[in-house]
Amino acid sequence: YVKQQGGDDVFWYHKAINEHNAHNIQLESELRAATNEGQFVPYYQPKFALDTGMITGFEALVRWQHPTRGLLKPIDFIDAIISHKLSLELFSQMAVQIAEQLTIWQGLGFDQHICINADAAEFSNPDFFDLVSNLLIEHDVAANQLHIEVTESSLIQRHANVKKQLNLLKKLGICLALDDFGTGYASLSYLQEYPFDFIKIDKSFISKITDDRTQRAIVKAILDLAEALDMQVIAEGIENEQQRDLLLSMGCQYGQGYWFGKPMTAEQATQMLTQQHLSKSNPS
Ligand code: C2E
Ligand code: MG
Ligand code: MG
Ligand code: MG
Repeated sequence: YVKQQGGDDVFWYHKAINEHNAHNIQLESELRAATNEGQFVPYYQPKFALDTGMITGFEALVRWQHPTRGLLKPIDFIDAIISHKLSLELFSQMAVQIAEQLTIWQGLGFDQHICINADAAEFSNPDFFDLVSNLLIEHDVAANQLHIEVTESSLIQRHANVKKQLNLLKKLGICLALDDFGTGYASLSYLQEYPFDFIKIDKSFISKITDDRTQRAIVKAILDLAEALDMQVIAEGIENEQQRDLLLSMGCQYGQGYWFGKPMTAEQATQMLTQQHLSKSNPS
C-alpha cells in the first residue's frame, strides 16, 4: 500500500503486486478489447415500492459478455477495471446503453428511471460531469430519469473531486443514492455532507433481519435517521416475503432483491413493465 498526499486529501491505494505477470497482461488486453468492442452490457434489477409492489425503477448492473468465458459478473473484473483505469470507459458504455433503454421505455409509455453504479475513480475524473450532462442532451433524457449510486467505501477514499462532482450532478437534477450503507465505515456526517436523496441499506443487514434483533435495531436506526434527514430508503437483498413484510412495517419505502426480481436482460425488464401495465389496466 502506498500513501498518497494530494492537497488536503489523503488516501491509500493498492499497488497491484502482480502488475506485470502474464495473466494480468492478458486480462488487461481483454478488458481493452471489451471496452472497444462493446462487450459490457447492463442487466436490470427492478426496484419496487414495498407497499404497492409496483416497479419504481431499475438498477443497471454490468455484465461482461466475454467471447469465450460467457457472461461474467462484476466480482470477476471490476477491480481490474479500476486498476487499469478503465472506469470511465465502462461508465460511458453503460450510460449510453441506459440512455437508449430509457428512450425505448419512454416510447412505450413507461416512465421509469435507471440507476447507474459509479465508483470514486470515476468521480475523481474531471471529465465525468461533462460526460453525464452531454449524454442527457444527446439522448434527450431528463435528468431525473438517471440516478447515480455511489458506495460508501468510495467516499471514504476522499478523492478531491467527489463532493464537487456530486453537487454538480445534483444541481443538474440527477438523483443520488448512497449504496451499501452500513458497510463502508463512513461516518454519519457523510449523510449531511453529501447531497444524497436515497440511502441503500446493504443486503448484509437485510439477510438476518427477521431473526436477529441487533440487525433489526440497526435497520430501524437507519430508517429513523433517513427520515430525520429527509432521505428515502431502499432495502437491498430482499429474498423473501417475511423480510418484505417486516421492512414495510418498519416504514421502509423501497426494496430490491431476488424475491421481487433478479438482474435481467433489457427484454425481460420490458416484459415485466408490460405485465405491470396490463395488470394495472385490467385488475383481476
Ligand atoms: P451493488 O450495487 O450493491 O448491487 C447489488 C448486488 O447484489 C448485485 O450484484 C445484485 O445482483 C446482488 N443482489 C441483488 N439482489 C440480491 C438478493 O436478493 N440476494 C443476493 N444475495 N444478492 C442480490 P452484482 O450484479 O454481482 O454486482 C456487484 C457489485 O458490482 C454492485 O453492488 C456494484 O457495486 C458493482 N457494480 C455493478 N455494476 C457496476 C457498474 O456498472 N459500475 C461499477 N463501478 N460498479 C458496478
Ligand atoms: Mg448499486
Ligand atoms: Mg449495494
Ligand atoms: Mg454492493
